[in-house]
Amino acid sequence: MQQHIKSADRELIRGINQSILLNLIREHAPISRPQLAAMSGLSQVTVIKITSHLLDRHLILEKEYAESTGGRRAGLLEINPEGGFAVGLIPQQSSLIGVILNLNSDLIYSQQWNIPFGDSYSLVVDLLARCVEDLVVQSGVAREKIIGVGIGMSGLIDAEHGYCIDSRLTGWKNVEISRPLQERLGIPVFLDNDVNCLAIYEKLFGQGQSYQHFLVVAIGSGVGLGIVINGDLYRGAFGGAGEFGHTAVTTEGRLCACGNHGCLEAYISDAGIVKNYLAYMRATAYSREGEIQEPSAFELVERARNGDGAATAAFQHAGTLLGVSLANLVNVFNPECIVLSGPDTDASMLAGDLLLQPMHQALKQHLFSQIGKDLQLKVERLGFESWARGAGNLVLRHFFASPAQVHPERTLVGG
Ligand SMILES: [Zn+2]
Repeated sequence: MQQHIKSADRELIRGINQSILLNLIREHAPISRPQLAAMSGLSQVTVIKITSHLLDRHLILEKEYAESTGGRRAGLLEINPEGGFAVGLIPQQSSLIGVILNLNSDLIYSQQWNIPFGDSYSLVVDLLARCVEDLVVQSGVAREKIIGVGIGMSGLIDAEHGYCIDSRLTGWKNVEISRPLQERLGIPVFLDNDVNCLAIYEKLFGQGQSYQHFLVVAIGSGVGLGIVINGDLYRGAFGGAGEFGHTAVTTEGRLCACGNHGCLEAYISDAGIVKNYLAYMRATAYSREGEIQEPSAFELVERARNGDGAATAAFQHAGTLLGVSLANLVNVFNPECIVLSGPDTDASMLAGDLLLQPMHQALKQHLFSQIGKDLQLKVERLGFESWARGAGNLVLRHFFASPAQVHPERTLVGG
């Protein structure tokens, strides 16, 4: 039968074996070749051949020496962190943050650009490509050692095909990102929702490390949700799971940026909190429409702290709706933990107890029976650099995945 195996199949088998060994080295380093053979079930000859190939490619290192049972000196193998580097990008409304990670996921370099992302598709692919090249040059990492680019974008993303289906950030609908950028750069490009990237970061390095079932709720300029079940990201049947910001909190509500009415985001995002304030002012007998100057969400934090009743009520309303919505999530998913994360560039998290106190109260009130008894709620302010580290790990996950196991719609974030 052996001679009937097609060369494409041989290639696949070689790739799978290489991936098995690379992962064993990653998990059990420093490890000897005989140990690798015993753990993988592969023959000594195959292990020697593949590890020699990996050494030639500088993906592994042979660092230490120990006496083997046969009296010969046997090398111990480990991953070469400098063997390859991944780029992670998080585009924001008018900026882009980029990071470079080594094969151990260590942060090597990060950079931020102020970029006015317009709605011109070709221009944005061009801008992203130029930022990647700039990032690589500034970092001092050799260009040929870059193994891929991971991008986290807000909105509805088709991770499998690399499409941005609907993003509020750019106004793009059904725009292909991965393929044209990959062609331009000559390296693999992986796209995912930005809060999914944050969830990957939390699972690997952050608040979710010790949990198998947890939710990441991101608030600020928008509202997003990353769902981790059994240690894996959950995307739903068609990749759209987690559009928490567009769950309805009322049937006849305020117009949301998505075009629907009554979405959670329209009340609890920074812009939504400002609208809460304006609505409250207009509803009072003391103010008439047209006379109210629109404050920023940051100004509202200050006003509320100085005892402004309308500003306090704006946060109170947002906090209550957030708490009710979190209770709905807990009643549906029964997670071990919820990480409530806000970037340090937005106002929501600066508000602190103005938002969190009514949130806790409403959450407690709307939990079913004892479902939230052991729930951990962690609140954090986290910069976009961490989101970008999650995006970079999209690349590393593909790099270490076996060719037979790569299902783009399923992202293993554990281990
Ligand atoms: Zn909406």
